[in-house]
Amino acid sequence: MEDPLLKYIRNVPDWPKPGIQFKDITTLCKAYEPFKESCDRIINHYKGKGITKVAAIEARGYVWGGVIAYHLGAGFVLMRKPGKLPAETISVTYDLEYGTDSIEMHKDAIIKGDKVLVFDDLLATGGTAKAACHLVEKVNGDVIGVAFVIELTGSLHGRDKLKGYDVLSLLEIPIVE
Ligand code: AMP
Repeated sequence: MEDPLLKYIRNVPDWPKPGIQFKDITTLCKAYEPFKESCDRIINHYKGKGITKVAAIEARGYVWGGVIAYHLGAGFVLMRKPGKLPAETISVTYDLEYGTDSIEMHKDAIIKGDKVLVFDDLLATGGTAKAACHLVEKVNGDVIGVAFVIELTGSLHGRDKLKGYDVLSLLEIPIVE
């Protein structure tokens, strides 16, 4: 049976550029019941695992991240695009199909011994999430899990890039070539 949450994901073809099938989560989070259901599933999965920080990736990761942190009794950490955070930051640069990108976090956001759940809305190639895990590890935090609402399956192999980490995705959507 198809997951009832799937019908709340809107596919926007050719956005932000031709050839991309953009998975729009605004149609999920604007509806209370499915949004609550998606939060609850993630919270229940990580309850009792001793998570001390939820580190979410700008910007759609924040939609769930704060809710998950609150219910797990954990702190919330912002991972952002370069130049957005006001205090001293550390950063990790990662490869894109063409060029590179970076994400940053405040240097003091995570400390040695923190048990961290990394969260983003969607797993595609896995580059962003892997960089986020490296940021956590740079300051000696432990990545307990990496969670997503959507995992794009098929030729992107995002899960392979996260080998060695405990990966949870609520919805698997095959990419159409
Ligand atoms: P990646 O680093 O390739 O795993 O890309 C993941 C990041 O890009 C996430 O923050 C997603 O929000 C965004 N993203 C990549 N591909 C898509 C897509 N097809 N639809 C929606 N968001 C996407």
